[in-house]
Amino acid sequence: MQALRIEVPGTVDRDAVVARARELGVLGWVRVDDDGRSRLHAEGDAEAVQALVAFVGGDAQPAKVEGHEQFAVRGVPHGSFVISIHDATSRHFDLRLEVDGVMKSWAVPKGPSLDPAAKRLAIAQPDHAIGSDVPGPTRLIWDRGVYEQGGRVPWPEAIDRGHAVFVLHGEKLRGGFALQRTPRGWLLVKRKDDEARPGSDIVAERPEAVS
Ligand code: MN
Repeated sequence: MQALRIEVPGTVDRDAVVARARELGVLGWVRVDDDGRSRLHAEGDAEAVQALVAFVGGDAQPAKVEGHEQFAVRGVPHGSFVISIHDATSRHFDLRLEVDGVMKSWAVPKGPSLDPAAKRLAIAQPDHAIGSDVPGPTRLIWDRGVYEQGGRVPWPEAIDRGHAVFVLHGEKLRGGFALQRTPRGWLLVKRKDDEARPGSDIVAERPEAVS
C-alpha cells in the first residue's frame, strides 16, 4: 500500500482522472483549487498509484494512508443545505442536507458551532422535501447554501454508517463539518480547518435571518 499527494499545474479533467483511478483500483480524491492547480490524494497498490501519477503528470510526494473507500471528486457541490430556527414546543435549529432528492434532517437544539471543541447534539428527523423550509411565523431561515460531500466513505452510505463528513458553503457556516452517530444521538462537530473559530459562538453572534 502506497499513498501519494500529487500536485499538477493546471486544471485536470476530473472525470477522466476518476475513470482512470477506478480502472487502476486507486482510492482517494481529486480537487481543482482556486489557485488553478489540481491536487490529488492517491492510495493503493504502489504500481497502480504510480500509473495514476504517470497519467496526470505533476509532482508526487509521499503521504499518509487515509483509508479511503472510493476515488472521489472533491470541491464540487452535491446539493443544497438549509439551517432554520424553528420556534416549536422547544426552540431548535433544523439542519437539512440535500441527499439523493430529499432533505436529510436533524434537529439541533443548541444550533451549530464553528468551534471544533463544541459537539452539538443533533436528533435525526424524517426526510423532508426539497424547498419545504420557508420563512414564517415560527421559522427563520438562518443559513443556506451548497455543500460538498467529503470523507473516506461514499454518500449516502456514510450517513447509513453514522459518520458523514461535508463542507458547507453558507453565508455564516463555511468549511468542514462532521455528523457522528453515537448511542445518545448524532453529534454535529466543526472540523479543524481554516474556517474553524475556536471559542466563537456563531449562533449568538449572527442571530439574523439570511436573505
Ligand atoms: Mn423543527
